[in-house]
Amino acid sequence: MTRLPLVALALALLAGCAYPYSPPSLPPVSSTSPAASVASAAAPAEARAPVTILVSIDGFRADYLTRGLSPHLSHLATEGVTAAMRPSFPSKTFPNHWTLVTGVVPDRHGIVANSFTDPAHPGERFTMASDQPYWWDEAEPVWVTAERAGIPTATMLWPGSNVAWGGTLQPRGHHAVTGGVRPHDWLQFNANISDRQRVDTVIDWLRRPGPTRPRFLTLYFDEVDIAGHDGGPDSAEVNAAIAHVDQAIGALVSGLAELGLAANLVIVSDHGMAATSSERVIALDRMVNPADYEMSEDGPFAMIRAVPGHEAALEARLLSHHDHMDCWRRNGIPARFRYGRNPRIAPYFCLADAGWLIDAKPADKPFTGGAHGYDNADPSMTALFIAQGPAFRPGAKLAPFDNVDVAPLLRDLIGLPPGRGLDGTDAPFRRVLRR
Ligand code: AMP
Ligand code: ZN
Ligand code: ZN
Repeated sequence: MTRLPLVALALALLAGCAYPYSPPSLPPVSSTSPAASVASAAAPAEARAPVTILVSIDGFRADYLTRGLSPHLSHLATEGVTAAMRPSFPSKTFPNHWTLVTGVVPDRHGIVANSFTDPAHPGERFTMASDQPYWWDEAEPVWVTAERAGIPTATMLWPGSNVAWGGTLQPRGHHAVTGGVRPHDWLQFNANISDRQRVDTVIDWLRRPGPTRPRFLTLYFDEVDIAGHDGGPDSAEVNAAIAHVDQAIGALVSGLAELGLAANLVIVSDHGMAATSSERVIALDRMVNPADYEMSEDGPFAMIRAVPGHEAALEARLLSHHDHMDCWRRNGIPARFRYGRNPRIAPYFCLADAGWLIDAKPADKPFTGGAHGYDNADPSMTALFIAQGPAFRPGAKLAPFDNVDVAPLLRDLIGLPPGRGLDGTDAPFRRVLRR
């Protein structure tokens, strides 16, 4: 893996290059970088319209905010607007991050799980590493709309932000694409980029002079989710991760203050977290004949196909009553999930009760941890929402709303026209937005 020397990294950031990024082993580019300070000083004050920063803290369950471990987030919540936000179904990372930036439910935007197949692309599988544009092109993310409107955008990680949206990947081109729109600045996902490096890079992007300064940015943190899976939502690991990400939020707020830059912050999570255990595993092989089915996703939900010719045998067992699990044909999933029309969803879909896991076999050794992907109305899946900045009236607690409404809010903040055909609206925010 190549390492960019610090000066090269600083210049690349200033020049606005999109480049594959390996985190430097040296301290990250800091707000005292000499070249950066020159750019900051050169920025004309009149060009400093508020920027919009969408921050995701993956797996930050709404009630984590009440643990007393995140003073910076709590302060922003007090100064701004807060709510308990319902994720979309299924309550997984990629479906929800794509909903947050497109304003449509996973059934319509096509990122129906973290991993799935599509009858239109036989032999291919979508995974979290897929940057093939056709997986993503059923709905347009807000940074593409903004770039097309001449508004510069920059993404410090976000599922889908490394994709040349609407482009075509060359068969043997090693990620070479023709056409497509990306954020002006973006990075290939790399879990080793520290929280502080993520924040410092965003601040450095914002140091640019007015015309080249991004006006919409994303910032993504995954450590709370990782800790939640490892230790479960009530673990010391989660508490440490909450406190650590909160420090990064504090650094973001002070970095913006040092720049004297007004920002509307929209801080969200994609879903919550439920405690799991080897005591709560649903062993599918004990309910249906393993010769009748193939399972392509397991855990909180399962995507299931019948072995050809075994449909009737599978249905007779799978679609009957089970403790702690419901199974449906794809087109029989209850309407409230808004899920089941997209052909990327397997023909049979099983959903476990929160805290239960579907697997072929019982656990072979004891474990505890955390998972998400459950019923999006289950309280354990509730997501974080805090919005703060000049666009928001302070101190409002909103009624719970669906995360499809975030993209319409972002469009308002960025100055884009309302989206057409979206599942969400900005209605939940109208009384707290200053016009
Ligand atoms: P999950 O908990 O299975 O829904 O997946 C969430 C995890 O995906 C996070 O903890 C991240 O570490 C990881 N992740 C986030 N973005 C990406 C990406 N663009 N590529 C690969 N992995 C990612
Ligand atoms: Zn997630
Ligand atoms: Zn997760």
